Amino acid sequence: MELKILQNFPNERFTVDVMLGKLARYLIMLGFDCLYRKDFPDDRILDCSIAQNQAIISRDLELIERASAWPALLLKTTVLSEQLLQVKQRFDLEFSSKKLFQRCIKCNLELEEIEKSRISDRIPEETYNWLDKFYRCQLCGQIYWKGTHYRAIKQLLEEWNLLDK
Ligand SMILES: [Zn+2]
Repeated sequence: MELKILQNFPNERFTVDVMLGKLARYLIMLGFDCLYRKDFPDDRILDCSIAQNQAIISRDLELIERASAWPALLLKTTVLSEQLLQVKQRFDLEFSSKKLFQRCIKCNLELEEIEKSRISDRIPEETYNWLDKFYRCQLCGQIYWKGTHYRAIKQLLEEWNLLDK
């Protein structure tokens, strides 16, 4: 592994193995670039993480050992809150409520803000009247807003003491 690559390592991008789907969703909800594919074998995870400059997070000791000098984290716990804490500490991440819901959970792409009048037929009337900011995934078209799901996730992260601000 070239030292040059490690020095340029951004530390906020991840490839997550197949056993950690829920963690991957939470990291994406927290605004981090996080590649998760159910169909990726270990070789693809290694190749992808190096090609795309992403740290590896895995529950597989063999995979972590094969990653050698590449930034990686082995998670032994299956408890989501503990997994998030270990990722946060290992990669020195800031978990901010301001960064919540900025990426599409399905596609891992950053969302774009969209004028609500353009999507009035796709959101419940009550939500439309109550909120002004809506976001859309440019790839799959999914619409997001900071409604009850957002508040529930934020509250959960607060209960786990994981939000910095
Ligand atoms: Zn999407």
